[in-house]
Amino acid sequence: MSRRQVFLTAIIAGLAWSGAGLKRQTAIGKGPQKNTNAVNYGRPFEPPARPAFIPLPPGRIEPAGWLRDWALTARDGYTGHMEEVDPAFRQAWAADYRMTGDRLSYWDRGAWPYEGGGYWLDGMIRLGYALHDDSLLSKAKARLDVVVNNMNENGILFMWWLDKNNPADVEAAGKQAGGEAQAWPIWANGLMGRALAAYYAGSGDHRVLRALEMAYGGDRGWSRKGWALSNLWPAFEAYTWTGNRNIGEALTGLFADNAVKTPEKSVPLYESWYNRMPDERLPWFRQPDHGVHFNESTIPWALGSLWTGKPEYLKAPCRWYEIIERGDDGMQPHGVPVCDENSGPTGSLRGTETCNVAGYMWSQITLLRVGGQGVMADRVERAFFNAAPAVVSRDFKTHVYHQTPNRITRNLPDGHAFLYSTTHGPLCCTAALNRFVPNYVTHLWMATYDNGLAATHYGPCKVSALVADRVPVELECRTDYPFNDFIDIAVKPARDATFPLSFRIPGWCANPHITVNGSLHRAAAGANGFVRIERLWRRGDTVHLRFPMTVRVRTGHDNSAADTPYATVSYGPLLFALAIPDTVDANTPDDAFNWNYALDLQGDKPGYGIAVERRPMPGKWAWQLDAPLRLHVRARSFDWQPVARKALPTEPVARDEASPFQPERVLTHLPAKPVSAGTVPEEIRLVPYGCTKFRVSMFPVTDRPAGVMPAARGP
Ligand SMILES: [Zn+2]
Repeated sequence: MSRRQVFLTAIIAGLAWSGAGLKRQTAIGKGPQKNTNAVNYGRPFEPPARPAFIPLPPGRIEPAGWLRDWALTARDGYTGHMEEVDPAFRQAWAADYRMTGDRLSYWDRGAWPYEGGGYWLDGMIRLGYALHDDSLLSKAKARLDVVVNNMNENGILFMWWLDKNNPADVEAAGKQAGGEAQAWPIWANGLMGRALAAYYAGSGDHRVLRALEMAYGGDRGWSRKGWALSNLWPAFEAYTWTGNRNIGEALTGLFADNAVKTPEKSVPLYESWYNRMPDERLPWFRQPDHGVHFNESTIPWALGSLWTGKPEYLKAPCRWYEIIERGDDGMQPHGVPVCDENSGPTGSLRGTETCNVAGYMWSQITLLRVGGQGVMADRVERAFFNAAPAVVSRDFKTHVYHQTPNRITRNLPDGHAFLYSTTHGPLCCTAALNRFVPNYVTHLWMATYDNGLAATHYGPCKVSALVADRVPVELECRTDYPFNDFIDIAVKPARDATFPLSFRIPGWCANPHITVNGSLHRAAAGANGFVRIERLWRRGDTVHLRFPMTVRVRTGHDNSAADTPYATVSYGPLLFALAIPDTVDANTPDDAFNWNYALDLQGDKPGYGIAVERRPMPGKWAWQLDAPLRLHVRARSFDWQPVARKALPTEPVARDEASPFQPERVLTHLPAKPVSAGTVPEEIRLVPYGCTKFRVSMFPVTDRPAGVMPAARGP
């Protein structure tokens, strides 16, 4: 079948299915229709099933305290200065960088700036709104306006310089190149779509909405091309604002053609993988995928649950994220799965690509928005407080490509990907790290359909939003969380008004404590993990949240060498590590520092005998080693020779895609057996993992806690 035939078949299938889809929507009683109710942040056109939460427009939540310090550092580091970092960022979606032909089809032949530009501009516009920073906003808008102002009816998605009537342009944009470039430009367009959706949500500028509608409403063919999945959410956003019939029919046809499948059903990896339930019999790392593709390809199927009203579209991606958490099947203690390009088992030297910190956070934020389960927000916090700060230097000007739970010397793990550098090739991670802070800040609170607000994540901030019958309210959240365990919220409605506020109870917190104006609020959290308080709120009301943190010690096996025991220490949402001080820069450790310790914990004692030390927050937050929260832990030194041992499993983790990083060559340096507890115990001081550049966070253990460890999982 020729490309043209495939294309025509897809269009015909789309037309046919659009009828079937509409019937189905009618059957559940709520077809996509104009929303006439008075939901403050409802969209004019709603899908058949409503999401749990509605994101507030960028700019409604301003960071404060330590979070503001870090946001300003991000602005002054990478985000406000990307053109100085690499020429590719000057080219990204620039008026004079109009790639055509074969070079457009391959990221490594010149098309890369379209992906990188999408990541960066998405982060920059959101950070500009969050900080109310006019110069950052001007810079982001100037770049995005090149696309907005040049859009025309003959372009292909946001590539305004292409002509959809020119077969050569159609071929270049949608070329299927067998695993290397599955319609690469189409994928990159989805990232631009995400940036423009944020631009419109923040500005209400109808030129921007017109650009989104023109890209996704011009025809429906885009939805069937290779990596088109990144475009589904921005297309959906455009639909909810415009009700564009072509967009609606593209989504209806796509979901109708892609029912959720059982694990046995073979589906094309780059088209439909995550509308398939995982094979429960296999660990996550045995169902391989490229990490970025995994995170970006799960969330389109969650959208299917809104569009079709069928919950299985949400259940499938949620289950994939649940199986990562099993045993040591892939989740790293810093909160983002192993993705040293491809999925792999948990391991002290296994890498996690920096792109995946942003991608994993975004996937959980999106699943939270759709399904409303607090566990997804727990995961966002874990990634944001641990993995995100670890990958960038404290000045936000250098970064690693892969982070590892343990980094004990400049050369262990070995390779440039593990060093802090201004850029890494490819430039994906250098671009994607601009999304960490704005995506966290702009989703600290979300709106609810009952005209209330929900505290979905925690951190110091100020919220200005509408509640009840369009009553403006300010919420001032004063806290050092997660470096302390309480949050004071001043509620300031413009006038007395009855509305609900919902507060997420972190999954790790057994005894939350909520008071309203000093009175204890006794209601337990609902099944979604949120406590909902609906009352008449008056200016001057206060909510005090306290989430007592407890020390958690997790023991397991480095699954890149299945016999190797380890232990990690967490407190609240924070992972703790023995920091090896970095001296002149993030690549230079203090060689005199002793890091050769095994944790020596008495697993049967509550609190494990670990003492918590609190100190005042520093004047300016910079993820400094001199951390305000420290744990004192018993350990024993031993003659730790970090012998490189060949990893298990011996088979390559991924078979479907060539990876520059060879999973079968991963080494572990942890001792194969528990260390004898014969030496004299010492007390070592741990700090939050996010503060460290060199560290041990997956510790060897003495034979004392080894008896309580679970059995090793075989490969
Ligand atoms: Zn990357």
